[in-house]
Amino acid sequence: MSFLDTKIEFLKGVGPKKAILLKQELLITSFHDLLTFFPFRYIDRSKFYTINQIKGFDTDIQLIGIVKNKKELGFGSKKRLVVSFSDFSGTVDLVFFKRIHWLNKFISVGKKYLIFGKPTQYGSSISFVHPEMDLFTETKKKPHYSLYPVYHSSDKLNSIGLNSKGISRLVQELLLLVKHKLTENLSLEIINKHCFMSREKSLFEIHFPSSVNNLNQAIHRLKFEELFFLQISLLKQKMLRHKKSKSFIFKKVGDKFNAFFYNHLKFELTNAQKKVIKEIRYDVLTGFQMNRLIQGDVGSGKTVVAIMSMLLANDNGFQTCLMAPTEILASQHYETIQSFASDLQLRVVLLTGKTQSKKKKQILNDLSDNLIDIVVGTHALIQDSVFFSKLGLVVIDEQHKFGVSQRAKLWKHQHILPHVLVMTATPIPRTLAMTAYGDLDVSIIDELPPNRKKVNTIHKYDKQIDDVYQLIYKQLKNNRQAYIVYPLIEESQVLDYKNLLSGYANAKKIFEKLGFKISMVHGKMKKEEKEFEMSRFLNKETHIMVSTTVIEVGVNIPNATVMVIQNAEKFGLSQLHQLRGRVGRGGDKAYCFLVTSHKLTIDAKNRLKAMVNSNDGFQIAEIDLQIRGPGDILGTRQSGLLNLNLASLVKDYDLLNSARKEAKLLLANDFDFKKYNNREIRYFFSKYYQTQLKWGTVS
Ligand code: ADP
Ligand code: MG
Repeated sequence: MSFLDTKIEFLKGVGPKKAILLKQELLITSFHDLLTFFPFRYIDRSKFYTINQIKGFDTDIQLIGIVKNKKELGFGSKKRLVVSFSDFSGTVDLVFFKRIHWLNKFISVGKKYLIFGKPTQYGSSISFVHPEMDLFTETKKKPHYSLYPVYHSSDKLNSIGLNSKGISRLVQELLLLVKHKLTENLSLEIINKHCFMSREKSLFEIHFPSSVNNLNQAIHRLKFEELFFLQISLLKQKMLRHKKSKSFIFKKVGDKFNAFFYNHLKFELTNAQKKVIKEIRYDVLTGFQMNRLIQGDVGSGKTVVAIMSMLLANDNGFQTCLMAPTEILASQHYETIQSFASDLQLRVVLLTGKTQSKKKKQILNDLSDNLIDIVVGTHALIQDSVFFSKLGLVVIDEQHKFGVSQRAKLWKHQHILPHVLVMTATPIPRTLAMTAYGDLDVSIIDELPPNRKKVNTIHKYDKQIDDVYQLIYKQLKNNRQAYIVYPLIEESQVLDYKNLLSGYANAKKIFEKLGFKISMVHGKMKKEEKEFEMSRFLNKETHIMVSTTVIEVGVNIPNATVMVIQNAEKFGLSQLHQLRGRVGRGGDKAYCFLVTSHKLTIDAKNRLKAMVNSNDGFQIAEIDLQIRGPGDILGTRQSGLLNLNLASLVKDYDLLNSARKEAKLLLANDFDFKKYNNREIRYFFSKYYQTQLKWGTVS
């Protein structure tokens, strides 16, 4: 127990009743909690205003003036005290609804006061509701600090005198007690290297800044601290997991890998692909389970990386499996692998929900008898009846569709864990990835294959839809195909469905008489129907695909060159980018039309602008993060870990990086903080972080 663990009720001015509310409203239970309850903004109280200057002000300001008169008005709950307050330039009303009795005693007509609050204007008269009010003395005009801290409070706390000012008083009380007692939580080495302010000074400065510069330094240091300990817990957890889960070692690069590389790889790998393959090769030599996420934009060439990793496993005598979220994707992967399988003497099968039961039985037998090297499939792969005899590597395409526990089903019968490679085409920003994927190592393919043409992205209003149809027509005439996509938003499914149907009717009306056929796919159709329509489109039997977002995931139809996104303002950025990635997969020039109404919010405008200006998924993800904030992007389950007190994963990117670097360095040299120099880190970490972070697996 340290001094800072003292219960908050024992702080002078708190007591049991206030303690209960502090806990309820602000989760403050100890001295430590209050000490780290930081102001959320500061007000410059070195400035004074006069009444004739305050028209249109929307922040708290200070005035000095004299109380001219006061009266109690109204009855019961409407009862209020109205004070008229003047300086040489005018008069305002101060209005109080609470603690009237007490205030009436405190406020004397004819005396000079300093008031502090936010002005509100009713017609030509200005009033202040519950301003702070102090008897004015000349010394008050020169406060010893000019940046005045503002703390979050609540109505309940307000009613017992714990408004921002009340909380500030408590903090002041606490700081008196803890002076010279606050210990460091960083090593001297780190403090000196980064020229950080001491911890004690930082905590004093953040509550009561002595200057703007000192405040900034204090915040900088405290943010670093926060990010540093977060990174330590993440990295520690990851390293511990690595140590625990033993897995196979793929020592050799053998015939299959080489045959593929020399005879079947039709292009030069990009540097990014090479880098990731190297990372994977290193992982599978360590003897511990690989859990790697490959993030790469649509079309960045993740599949070939997956295939080469699988061949590496096959070369070392293991079975591999590749799991995709839809039948179509699974078949596409299967065909890709089939095209070189016989040359490499690989036995490959496809296992999906559609596989007939007789065939399936055979496959299951062969799998457990080790007569199959590669199985490509869908969810069917995680059924209870599937046994591998020697599963060495699992590849999962489009990660967000499978949860962690689902993944684990694949190797439920196996003593030694296979390596796991997860691929996702919805990049999340690096800043977030570093922090969010506690249990996965992240590889990034940040380079597209050469000669990839940018998808020409154009924003059109509803009224200009004819331009869009014109272009579609031109493309269809050149034997190309087009998508027209409608949003599906949960709350208004009926409306969306109607939009989709009328869009379909419209496309039919225009294009059928020109000799083209239209497919439609939407969420209400049965899975088989959807797949049937998709395959018709894939086989060029139909020319336009009108759909909801069901086509989003991974489907590769290189002949499609136009993507029309209707009501584009209703889609999120990453979804827009995903949809756009469906076209431009062949060598031809491709187009993406973002069709919207004229009514656009600022956010929607920003999203459209980002899409028109950038084809880079990572860049778009960064912008998305800025627009939406990290919580939204990762979903509620992961957002808890991003409850940083001060630091922001968006704005404090550099600091995050340097915190991560220091954390890595520290763990490499002194994993358990046994060195004397790291004793403060050890103490602080074990006290405040050790037990806190148990999430870390992303599903
Ligand atoms: P994704 O990362 O979206 O899954 P794919 O793996 O489907 O992308 O690759 C998209 C297309 O790019 C495929 O047709 C693939 O053959 C091709 N491709 C992959 N890597 C390269 C490369 N280094 N050079 C040229 N084309 C490549
Ligand atoms: Mg893919």
